[in-house]
Amino acid sequence: MLFTYNEDAMVVTGPVIESPSGLRIGQLAERVGTTVKAIRYYEALGLLDPPRRAPNGYRVYSPIAIGQLQFIRRAKVLGLSLAEIKRLFDTAKAGESISLRAQVADLLDEKLDECERQIAELVALRDSLQKRRRLTVIAQGAPPCACHGFDVSCACLPVSADEVSATSPAASPKTRA
Ligand SMILES: [Zn+2]
Repeated sequence: MLFTYNEDAMVVTGPVIESPSGLRIGQLAERVGTTVKAIRYYEALGLLDPPRRAPNGYRVYSPIAIGQLQFIRRAKVLGLSLAEIKRLFDTAKAGESISLRAQVADLLDEKLDECERQIAELVALRDSLQKRRRLTVIAQGAPPCACHGFDVSCACLPVSADEVSATSPAASPKTRA
């Protein structure tokens, strides 16, 4: 597992300073429009500064957490994974805004490459399906066949015998792991 949850690690040690602007987790969730569960999860991933402990034991979040949670929500709109968001977050936290912009650009380039790859796959699939649709016996108005589709060369399924053997593991040992 990439991230482990350690509650003790999140407790800020040292003197607790009361702040009137501190937020309880529920208030923070409401302010940002997320859930308490999500905040705890982000905290476990290191995507939030750990809250301090009030004398009554409650976790108290700094107003900085609002901006940090909004950062996560905005990054999610970009379709980034939490691991990717964590990398951006760490850069942002380090105050490296120029590096942050470069990282965002690189991540979006990666997403675009992945999109192009998926589009190419879908175009190839569409072409194949269109070709097979044209080859269906319905389209060709062919007479009924006697084999009920069970002959290996029957045109009821627009698939050639060569294509079937090409997908057989025995016929293509190089694709085996
Ligand atoms: Zn047939």
